Amino acid sequence: MTEQATPFWIAGKQATGTDSFEVYSPYDGAHVATVSVPTEDQVEEAVAAAAAAAKETADQPAHVRAAALDLVSRRIAERADEIAALITAENGKPLKWARAEVGRAVSVFRWAAEEARRFGGVVQRLDTDANATGRTAVIRRFPHGPVLGIAPFNFPLNLVAHKVAPAIAVGAPIIVKPAPATPLTALLLGELLAETDLPAGSWSVLPVPNDRMAALTADPRLPVVSFTGSGPVGAMIEAAVPHKHVTLELGGNAAAVVTADYASEADLDWAAQRIAAFSNYQAGQSCISVQRVFADRAVYDRLLEKVVAAVEAQKTGDPTDPGTDVGPMISVAAAERVEAWVGEAVGAGATLLTGGGRDGASYEPTVLAGVPDGAKVVADEVFGPVLVLRAFDGFDEAVRLVNDSRFGLQAGVFTHDLRTAFRAHRDLEVGGVIIGDVPSFRADQMPYGGVKGSGVGREGVKSAMEDYTYERVLVLTGI
Ligand code: NAD
Repeated sequence: MTEQATPFWIAGKQATGTDSFEVYSPYDGAHVATVSVPTEDQVEEAVAAAAAAAKETADQPAHVRAAALDLVSRRIAERADEIAALITAENGKPLKWARAEVGRAVSVFRWAAEEARRFGGVVQRLDTDANATGRTAVIRRFPHGPVLGIAPFNFPLNLVAHKVAPAIAVGAPIIVKPAPATPLTALLLGELLAETDLPAGSWSVLPVPNDRMAALTADPRLPVVSFTGSGPVGAMIEAAVPHKHVTLELGGNAAAVVTADYASEADLDWAAQRIAAFSNYQAGQSCISVQRVFADRAVYDRLLEKVVAAVEAQKTGDPTDPGTDVGPMISVAAAERVEAWVGEAVGAGATLLTGGGRDGASYEPTVLAGVPDGAKVVADEVFGPVLVLRAFDGFDEAVRLVNDSRFGLQAGVFTHDLRTAFRAHRDLEVGGVIIGDVPSFRADQMPYGGVKGSGVGREGVKSAMEDYTYERVLVLTGI
């Protein structure tokens, strides 16, 4: 291992191991950093420290936790340019999206501070039952214990923040396992956590190789596993630790529905621009990227024309250029997979309306129509800059098409009709319905998560705090 290897964090302190791996820019292959890998003994040290710190963190006053969270929020804001540049370097996402991600993480830590202050409990009267006359319950939530937070590559800061901030807010120690392609931002976040006076044992950031994750995931001293990533890995974790409290934030093939009441030029322009932007943002590598677009036949042709024009207007290229909309995918292999899926669809009769080209890890923003059912670009998670358009007749058919998926994360419905909005909320099998916008809208304080193959449990600051804790009842007699 070279001396310059970026250290990891064990129990709030920097350390290096005996092995290392390299991080390269997905855009041009430039070497970004060498990252040190913790040894098995060092991982054990972090887990033991988390277990030992659990009582102290759980008992910490809320104002101490809130102050630490506020400090991290402020420090992220102060170092925003540096952090955004690091996200772009390791992930390849355009600088403008990296900046947006940093802004979201600033808010996540601030909201967590606010939630920490009001995460109290409730008093419930029990004397509504004759047998419980004279009894009162006090219900408070307590942490399950240390959390293992496993993060994907596509939001190297904010998806780590979604695990770290709620853990601090409830007083649970956390071990963060960043994605191998993008560990640097999580390691930089460690610098900010180290500025707080949180108990040192209460947090670690460990870039553990995937082939050593089974033992860490199964460790009984980490009763909570909060995983964001792909379906197959999530399913493996769920099967391996059925007795643990597991949150799975997995993938999707999110749909946007454009109804007949979105018929004015302004309506269709808005829908087309949002669809084009959010099927391509981060090169489609968001779990709620727009993948399937269903438009009422009454507006389909006009929408299609506008979507293709808006997709072609997306500026592709160097992610460090502040004007770039669409950068590379995370790797050449990822772009080759998308190329193969688009090839499969076209081979089966789909029409390529724009895009379809690949240059290394960069895949052109692509629009397809006439895609046969079952083709991977509709049935699976494309996780690339590809969208598929299809017409429907009547909202019943739109509901059927959206629900014809093994995923269910979010759906967007462009409608002005309140009844259609409520109907969508009632009938779409997803964790969230966005009216008047694409499914890709997410505010980090709202509950977020999926049904079906998209996951188990909810994130969003308060929802994650609830997931990391359990209700413990105190029954008072004679009150
Ligand atoms: P991935 O499943 O390959 O990796 C996710 C994390 O799991 C990484 O840190 C990886 O190192 C780790 N991992 C790999 N093998 C493991 C094992 N055997 N045990 C424990 N951990 C292991 O996913 P990715 O490619 O980094 O991310 C893309 C996926 O994440 C997409 O499917 C996307 O939809 C999903 N995602 C979901 C959400 C959400 O909130 N629902 C958000 C972002 C991304």
